[in-house]
Amino acid sequence: MAYFDNNATTPLAASALDSLQKALEEEWSNPSSPYRKAARVRAGINRSREQIAETLGVEPSFLTFTSGATEANNAVFSYFSHQSSSDSKVLISSIEHPSVSSPAKWYFPDRVDFLETNGEGTICLEGLEAALHSQSRPILVSLMAASNETGVLQPWKEAAKMCKGFGVHFHCDSTQWLGKLPADDFSLCSTFVSSGHKFGSPKGIGWMVGQDSIPFFHGGSQEGGRRGGTENYPAIEALCSAWQRSQATLAELPARSQWRDSFESTLLTAIPGLRVLGGKSPRLWNTSCFVVPEFENLRWVGKLDRHGFEVSTGSACSSGKDELSPSALAFSLSSDETRRIIRVSSYIEQEQKDWKELANAFIQAFEELSREASTSTVISI
Ligand code: PMP
Repeated sequence: MAYFDNNATTPLAASALDSLQKALEEEWSNPSSPYRKAARVRAGINRSREQIAETLGVEPSFLTFTSGATEANNAVFSYFSHQSSSDSKVLISSIEHPSVSSPAKWYFPDRVDFLETNGEGTICLEGLEAALHSQSRPILVSLMAASNETGVLQPWKEAAKMCKGFGVHFHCDSTQWLGKLPADDFSLCSTFVSSGHKFGSPKGIGWMVGQDSIPFFHGGSQEGGRRGGTENYPAIEALCSAWQRSQATLAELPARSQWRDSFESTLLTAIPGLRVLGGKSPRLWNTSCFVVPEFENLRWVGKLDRHGFEVSTGSACSSGKDELSPSALAFSLSSDETRRIIRVSSYIEQEQKDWKELANAFIQAFEELSREASTSTVISI
């Protein structure tokens, strides 16, 4: 499969489509209605909740189905802003996804501190240690588990334990980790979130887990009263199917980092000056993010598209915008270099041969772009 933009979104898993279709056709009752048909839907929601919670090692009642990670990340900052005094601070990493950094700045204006990275895309725990010991200790710390841009894994388990020792709420944006790496240990986090469309479910469904009763929407008793509004049962069923598929395949996925590594070796030889971002750090097995030495990333993307491969210019959320992406800042890239970032990301469907074909397509694209550049120079002379 030639689709290499899975960190942006994944195709729907076949089992998720089946569950979705069945629920849409047969189980369309409102789960709050007072008859047996509706009770079946209500039971289905609880069954999905229990099945997912079991794989996460958490109490089912701690899991709230949400529309995805953006909603859940927002809810955490909104809740803490209402719970805390007007001078309380939050601490987030400097590489967070905008769905964390924007609500942090919105709900805590001028009261957000940032954890810096070490130059290879990993945050420094020393900064967290110092913040936890300081007089103006943050009331909430937020750190992503894996970067959506570079795939670099963050020391979230250590951070969670440190925060616990100080009684500070630790929130983890685990969106890119869940479905790709084992989900054990997330119960160390006070809250963590997921987005189903990163592992084969439809868009607009995900979850947040947390012991605190964080409210999402007022106006109904659904989701333990935390998130009013009629539940999207078909999406919940599809989410659960996609999650189970991901968990059944999980053991064999990390070894696929070899396919990504060979792809990078091929490119490093064929395209002199190419720089892999986070290549020395532990990374998700599916992601490669690099700066090409020449030609703007959108030109590469266009060429690759015509060769039948879909890749990205960085995170889908920051592509097309002028501002520097968090990873560009973490790697101290100039704005010129930022316009040469390319991200490729696989998932379950991509095979070793797809990575090899992708490498060949990059080499072809490089030859074509170089040829076009030399012709245009001749013409301009
Ligand atoms: N956090 C991260 C790290 C992500 O990659 C994404 C999706 N791009 C989100 C949050 C937002 O997820 P959703 O689409 O479910 O709102």
